[in-house]
Amino acid sequence: MPEETEVGSYFVSNYPPFSFWRPEHLPAARASMGLRADPATALGLYLHIPFCRKRCKFCYFRVYTDKNAGEVEAYLDALVREIEIYSRLPVLQDRGLRFVYFGGGTPSFLSSQQLRRLADRLRRSISWEHAEEVTFECEPGTLQEGKVQALREIGVTRVSLGVENFDDAILAENGRAHLSREIYRAYAWIRDAGFPQVNIDLIAGMVGETWDNWRECVCKAIDLAPDSVTIYQMELPFNTLYSRAILKEGAPVAVASWATKRAWAEHAFRAFEDAGYRVSSAYTLVRGPAQFIYRDALWHGADMVGTGVASFSQVAGTHYQNVDTMERYVEALASGELPLARAWPATPNQQMIRELVLQLKLGVVDAAYFRRKFNRDILETYGPLCRRFEQEQLLERRVDEIRLTRQGLLRVDSLLPEFFETEHRHARTS
Ligand code: SF4
Repeated sequence: MPEETEVGSYFVSNYPPFSFWRPEHLPAARASMGLRADPATALGLYLHIPFCRKRCKFCYFRVYTDKNAGEVEAYLDALVREIEIYSRLPVLQDRGLRFVYFGGGTPSFLSSQQLRRLADRLRRSISWEHAEEVTFECEPGTLQEGKVQALREIGVTRVSLGVENFDDAILAENGRAHLSREIYRAYAWIRDAGFPQVNIDLIAGMVGETWDNWRECVCKAIDLAPDSVTIYQMELPFNTLYSRAILKEGAPVAVASWATKRAWAEHAFRAFEDAGYRVSSAYTLVRGPAQFIYRDALWHGADMVGTGVASFSQVAGTHYQNVDTMERYVEALASGELPLARAWPATPNQQMIRELVLQLKLGVVDAAYFRRKFNRDILETYGPLCRRFEQEQLLERRVDEIRLTRQGLLRVDSLLPEFFETEHRHARTS
């Protein structure tokens, strides 16, 4: 991997890469929804709310910043209809939801009234009353005290607050819609409401970042005492405003090198550890009993039905994605169809690799788990690769486990393609 931050995807969120998924595999996706699931496989629901107040310059998600109230309502109608359709399919029958995730976009873009009404309508077809975790992503500037109360009332157990940075000039430069004072105001309401878990997100390496500011940023984050903190290293995938300016206009790359971003992330990891947190993945530190069920279940092969525009699902080993424009999404559901766009039925070997690369992000992988579930000895299959990474001090092989060193963990996404099948190694991940 080059040490300069170049335009291109780096983060690995799934396997095989999305660029291999095809419309011709949709019959496999439909077949997977018709299967009665193994009761031992956890089930989750993802709901995508694609609206934001403003487009961040580093964002590559499908988001809309210009939709009026009527269009937002039409989208929510379609979302309710999509979940109604799923609730009648075998994949959801007699199966409780273990986790629910409202992501985006900005789910907190919705008003308190829209949230309550959405929850009421969804309750007619599904229930998350017994889910162990219901996560809701929030943008600080969209919250009011009443909305935070509404989140508690609809059953949210884990709030994830997109802080990203505490410096107003850096927030503004990167196109964030919120200001630092809104972070503090929102955080106080969230704490007062008594959510079982509060996570804050930070980004190491936003445009304009410096060592002095980052140190201060980490101190301020620790002072807030969240239950967990997520720290991403800034990348420049295709389709961000920054990447387009670099590729089309030849603008200079103003994002720090990977070595600097790793040093910033490493500093944050140490500071949070000194404050009593423990590392729970390449991006997350937690304190006390905090867990992240959505992540752990997904990385251990849970089924997840993804609803909303451009959402990703995984059911019985088949991956699929919804159409990626709001118009096509709303139109498909208006005619009673699931809005499916492309799919990939993963082979048993690909399912094994998927879990292996995702679990490597946890920092430690249990070889016995892979023997039990996939009848594969990962220490033997990946012996030569592990030996090479061991020589580079990126991982260690222990009795029946692979354990990443801190340096390995901080660059884990750049190592993962080496575990892929050959034809997927140099693929675009989007
Ligand atoms: S708030 Fe999140 S989803 Fe919305 S534009 Fe910014 S990064 Fe993208």
